[in-house]
Amino acid sequence: MPPMGGGPMGRGYLTEEEKANAPKVTWPLVKRIFSYLLPYWKQLAVVLACIVVSSILGLLPSVLTGRIIDEGLIGQNLRMLIILIVASLGVSLGSNLIGVAESYLNNWIAQHLSFDLRNKMYGHLQKMSQGFFTSSNQGDIITRMTSDISGVERVVTITFTSILSNSITLICAVVIMYRENWILATVGVLIIPLFTIPTRWAGKTRWTLTREAQECNDEINGILNETLSVSGQLLVKLFGKEEHEYNRYVDANRKMIGLHIKESMAGRWFIVVINTFSSVGPMLLYLVGGILIMKYDSTLTVGDISVLVALLGRMYGPVNSLLNIQVEWIRSMALFTRIFEYFDMPVEIQNAPDAVVPATANGNVVFKNVQFSYNPERQILKNVNFELKSGNSIAIVGPSGSGKSTIINLIPRLYDVCGGEVTFDGIDVRKLDLEFLRRNIGIVSQETYLFNGTIRENLLYAKPDATEEELIEACKKANIYDFVQNQEQGLDTMVGNRGLKLSGGEKQRISIARILLKDPVLFIFDEATSALDSISEKKIQEAIDPIIHSRTSILIAHRLSTILAADEILVIKDGEIAERGTHTELLDDGGIYQELYETQFGKALVQE
Ligand code: ATP
Repeated sequence: MPPMGGGPMGRGYLTEEEKANAPKVTWPLVKRIFSYLLPYWKQLAVVLACIVVSSILGLLPSVLTGRIIDEGLIGQNLRMLIILIVASLGVSLGSNLIGVAESYLNNWIAQHLSFDLRNKMYGHLQKMSQGFFTSSNQGDIITRMTSDISGVERVVTITFTSILSNSITLICAVVIMYRENWILATVGVLIIPLFTIPTRWAGKTRWTLTREAQECNDEINGILNETLSVSGQLLVKLFGKEEHEYNRYVDANRKMIGLHIKESMAGRWFIVVINTFSSVGPMLLYLVGGILIMKYDSTLTVGDISVLVALLGRMYGPVNSLLNIQVEWIRSMALFTRIFEYFDMPVEIQNAPDAVVPATANGNVVFKNVQFSYNPERQILKNVNFELKSGNSIAIVGPSGSGKSTIINLIPRLYDVCGGEVTFDGIDVRKLDLEFLRRNIGIVSQETYLFNGTIRENLLYAKPDATEEELIEACKKANIYDFVQNQEQGLDTMVGNRGLKLSGGEKQRISIARILLKDPVLFIFDEATSALDSISEKKIQEAIDPIIHSRTSILIAHRLSTILAADEILVIKDGEIAERGTHTELLDDGGIYQELYETQFGKALVQE
């Protein structure tokens, strides 16, 4: 199994440029984040009011401490002492009760924000082209859908609230301190900037570590997705790679815990520094306050010094938190950036603004000078021209990797052409309404995909309002009805994870029944190359044959009987139509077709 493409190895670590820019929070980014909060402005306004009130109330007990000391204790006024103590407790209780209401609303907003982001991302992913899913790491997609979006809930519940409440507390505390005594207030305030140095260091380190941990997490998710899927496990078992995969997982896991430990330590060191400063502060105030009382300022009271010490004590928390918040905030920005990266991915295949919705569909398909490449390095289709008239059928044959599946992928716009055009009923498919186009095309692909549910649920996916009779009719036509009838649960038989409880042939016939229920104008069969036993082959053939004869169809054919049923045969080689004609014409030409006939179809002929 190849290493995951999107893990740290695939995307690389932070570039120097990213490192220099990462901690910066740009205004457009903040504006964009707030645009998602805008629908909840009423709730936010209430939260804001709660924060302001509870922050101010939270400071009052500290201010009351001064009066408790001066008027209650030193003034020996018991009545006043009791009133002040009760007032202080009441204010404290009120502030906490408001905090409860604020926390409820906060969580409500956070959950609704993540609900919106999840839906938006899922909706956007649904619009992404097939190319995105073939080239993306599934683990990365799941991480962004789940843990990244959960992470932003924290921004609202913790980061956003903390910034506000701590800023308000800090501003009010500074104002009150200056009103009490400007000299002591200045001493207290001067200690604060000393916190910034270790915080800056922690901010940068944590930013890098967060990105690395996230990439590592993507890698782990990727490994789990790949190796714990049914087919992944099968591959691991059959190649005896259990130990190799185990070691790969352990390595990624070890890297992850290392990063987590480093990440939490980056935060711890500066807490040590801050804690040291926080014990120095009060002592300095007592010293300077004492000198002021004893030597210079007789109006300063013990109560005043206590208020300042208490307020300084109240400031360390918010400062500490605000500095931590910077790290938290940057972390959150990283999450938002990752989410927005996905939102900003262009939807390559979408409806043209003036998309046409014809009244009826006939299924005429024309390829005009079609060029196509999945990536710029390699051209896959070179100048493909052919026409499929309504009611006719075309068989596409050719060596593996010649571009047969690519050709049919262009018709329902799973990919768009790079040159030339594909028309459906005379209109360029890029100008047609996508829903109309895809509704009129039915594909039975090589890899049959069935959802983990019952046969009935899988069939109803094509036509949710199909009647029981219609389901049975489709099963009969697809040659699967005998099988269904023999099951104890009939149509309600579970097919297992991705249909794995069924054989390859049964799955294919169910997918044929599903396409018959969809009843498109154009049928496309990408015949499986994997060998089925001759009975299964025959059953599938019997299901497909009437469709080929009566409906407009394109078949990527590997079996002679399917090829013979088509009106025209296209032989593809290296992305070009090398030969075309009927079976006899092509055999007479003695070219690639004859070669294929002798090597591939000849074998099939023996079986048939
Ligand atoms: P087969 O008979 O084996 O199914 P095919 O003729 O249908 O083969 P295609 O699946 O059309 O061949 O592939 C044509 C070429 O394009 C192959 O070389 C393949 O490796 C390449 N290719 C197919 N899908 C992609 C993709 N999503 N991204 C990049 N290259 C691709």
